[in-house]
Amino acid sequence: SDELLIKSEKLSVVGQLAAGVAHEIRNPLTALIGFVQLLKSKVDNYGHYFDIMSSELDRINFIVSEFLVISKPQVVKFQIRDMANVLMNTVALVNTKAIMQDVEITVGIREPLPPVLCDENQIKQVFINVLNNSIEAMPEGGMIRIEAFVRESDIVFRFIDEGQGIPEERIPRLGEPFYTTKEKGTGLGLMVSYKIIENHRGRMSITSELGHGTTVDIMLPITRSAE
Ligand code: ADP
Ligand code: MG
Repeated sequence: SDELLIKSEKLSVVGQLAAGVAHEIRNPLTALIGFVQLLKSKVDNYGHYFDIMSSELDRINFIVSEFLVISKPQVVKFQIRDMANVLMNTVALVNTKAIMQDVEITVGIREPLPPVLCDENQIKQVFINVLNNSIEAMPEGGMIRIEAFVRESDIVFRFIDEGQGIPEERIPRLGEPFYTTKEKGTGLGLMVSYKIIENHRGRMSITSELGHGTTVDIMLPITRSAE
């Protein structure tokens, strides 16, 4: 759609810039993280301050890594993958966090899913971002339902939560860099996810009802054996 196209152009400008900065920040940051840890073990007092420094540095590191996803074509490895497997492995990864927050994840895979040419780690990252958002939208716990099915030439992965939902006027802002409503959010998860799905020639759409929940659809094109 038009909207998605505009969004992706916005990303490429931001992406190029951000990736350049992220690369430059990476090395000094790695040194800082190491030396703060070293100092903590050498100094008897101030442990609390070192912990704060470590966790803040971890946060910077996380943001930098998110940005690096945008521009690393040399690392992207496209392979034929069984998507049911990829999905179930991702759910297993996120499940511990979900259970701790009283969130139950159920999965329904409607038919044997045809294979998809994808970078498994990147797709996992998208699933994790989406699942984390759903978990974070349900501070009192709840259910996440994941459905996977074939529709025309796509596999659709549908993530349905019963969280607080998103006001209609804010939906167009999803995927904008740094758009977050969370105190500790980065506003990068959806931007990175859109970018990854776009690199896979897929699409992502989000619908939501305030107070009822949010549904995220991720469409990935089925790979024909001729390709
Ligand atoms: P972050 O999670 O760091 O805030 P994201 O890019 O992942 O950044 O999400 C951006 C914003 O979109 C969130 O801050 C939240 O307001 C909204 N959002 C995304 N997914 C959901 C969801 N499942 N339920 C409610 N709000 C959501
Ligand atoms: Mg997020």
